[in-house]
Amino acid sequence: MPDNINNNNNDDEKDDYEKYCYLCKRPESSAGPFISMPGNMHICNQCMQKSFDALSNNPMSFLDLSKMPNINLSEFMPFNDLPKSQKVKKKKTKEKKEEVPLTMENIPAPHKIKAMLDEYVVGQDYAKKCISVAVYNHYKRVITNTMDDIEIEKSNMLMLGPTGCGKTYLVKTIAKLLNVPLAITDATSLTEAGYIGDDVESILSKLLAVADNDVEKAERGIVFIDEIDKIAKKKETHSRDVSGESVQQGLLKILEGAEVEVPVGSSSKNAMTPLTTMNTKNILFICGGAFPEIEKIIAARLNKQSAIGFNADLKDKHKDNMNIIKEVTNEDLRDFGMIPEFIGRLPVLFTLDALDKDMYIKILKEPKNAILKQYKKLLALDEVDLQFDESAYEAIAELALERKTGARALRSIIEKFMLDIMYQIPRDDSIGRVTITGDYIKGTGSPIIELRGTF
Ligand code: ADP
Repeated sequence: MPDNINNNNNDDEKDDYEKYCYLCKRPESSAGPFISMPGNMHICNQCMQKSFDALSNNPMSFLDLSKMPNINLSEFMPFNDLPKSQKVKKKKTKEKKEEVPLTMENIPAPHKIKAMLDEYVVGQDYAKKCISVAVYNHYKRVITNTMDDIEIEKSNMLMLGPTGCGKTYLVKTIAKLLNVPLAITDATSLTEAGYIGDDVESILSKLLAVADNDVEKAERGIVFIDEIDKIAKKKETHSRDVSGESVQQGLLKILEGAEVEVPVGSSSKNAMTPLTTMNTKNILFICGGAFPEIEKIIAARLNKQSAIGFNADLKDKHKDNMNIIKEVTNEDLRDFGMIPEFIGRLPVLFTLDALDKDMYIKILKEPKNAILKQYKKLLALDEVDLQFDESAYEAIAELALERKTGARALRSIIEKFMLDIMYQIPRDDSIGRVTITGDYIKGTGSPIIELRGTF
């Protein structure tokens, strides 16, 4: 074997990332031991053999560069190693498994998970309870690998709730508390494989990227698919439904648990993207959506039920029920356009409440990292005490209600009026306290400014 080709490269052994065959892009774990070449290039035995075969069948085979002593192969070919974002961390050996953060000893019980969620998410008690139990069961199943005689079903979830009521926030908070990787994706960006848009595998690529390309870590992560109602089956369509029903079909496999070939560091499979295999068996999938107008479907079903028999006189009693969404069933979701196989793979179904004025006020005041607390802390660094009048909370909540975009509106309202405060206050060292009033929020008054030493 020539000097510049050897089987061993000490630098690579220390590396935590998998090597990829330069030609076929397979990782070493599936393509077998590699031959390492200068420039950090690796070639699997199969590709090497093919290259030799090609050379020996080629009339130019006398031009065997590797046999020429003064020729450096790396000058002829772009031997750039794959960027880190396209590499996969090697699977850890058994002894390293203790590093896994969640164990039966440290996994918090559902009431503890809920208590932790309470510190961040206001209201939504029912949703918090459902998610705490489902997550606890899921990770218990993952940790103990209870797949023997009684197979524990996966606790994938489907949550319904209006926009800005905390669906994404709930999932983000739980992933942070449990220290597991979380990928958030939007169902509207997904299309059937082969069409413009992302394949369903792109969801797993995202999770892998969040997990630092560590397959093992990603395989225990959480995937949140938002706007799931947007992939409902189209009612009347003459064209192919590439972003609706077929995406639901495409998701079935990964929701249930399958070995999937996932492009690393990219959202689509192509010749230049290395692939790795991920098992989705232990990935928790949470889908969320607003399901607009599903209330009508629920009301129609309930009315139909009550029109039969004893309750016939109660016809149309559900028309104005604000909380009717809580009555949602799989049947309603089917009528909305979700296919039964899809719903069947999301066994935990629950709803979140629309936020009302009181909840907005609580969101402003209570969560550990409430946005107003953040501003208070920022000004406290300038030794200025920032206060909010009760009327200020009310005014912000009322403005947010008008916008109908959920709690997202709070931030934009607050940022708008805090801009002036944050700009002006540090200019004047004598200011010791600023009190924001309702009139200031409504634009009919100004904040109360108190000088240092006067309060
Ligand atoms: P969606 O339900 O549309 O996914 P999000 O979860 O993204 O809404 O909510 C937007 C923002 O509003 C969150 O980042 C969070 O700061 C805030 N928020 C929403 N609901 C709540 C809640 N119940 N408690 C505390 N903050 C909330």
